Amino acid sequence: MERRPHIHCPLCAWEPRPDSRWRCTPGEPGSGCGAVWNTFWTAGCCPGCGHHWAMTQCLSCRRASPHEAWYHFPPPEGGEARETKEALETAG
Ligand SMILES: [Zn+2]
Ligand SMILES: [Zn+2]
Repeated sequence: MERRPHIHCPLCAWEPRPDSRWRCTPGEPGSGCGAVWNTFWTAGCCPGCGHHWAMTQCLSCRRASPHEAWYHFPPPEGGEARETKEALETAG
């Protein structure tokens, strides 16, 4: 079974479309080649310069969020959704 995450802006719930485009701007160190592409096809990786974008700007509310925050996986069936990720990351 294939479980696809639902992709939308974590701030305003705007959903990217297949024809949505992002531009590689000098917003992060090592970026700014000017390539235009759909960032969700490459998981935030610029096809022009190979820069991996940590932040993705919403084309609707214009606010940037971590790229991984755009992916909303469905909760597991038959169980409560537990968020233990933060607890694991704080170790060390
Ligand atoms: Zn938004
Ligand atoms: Zn680039």
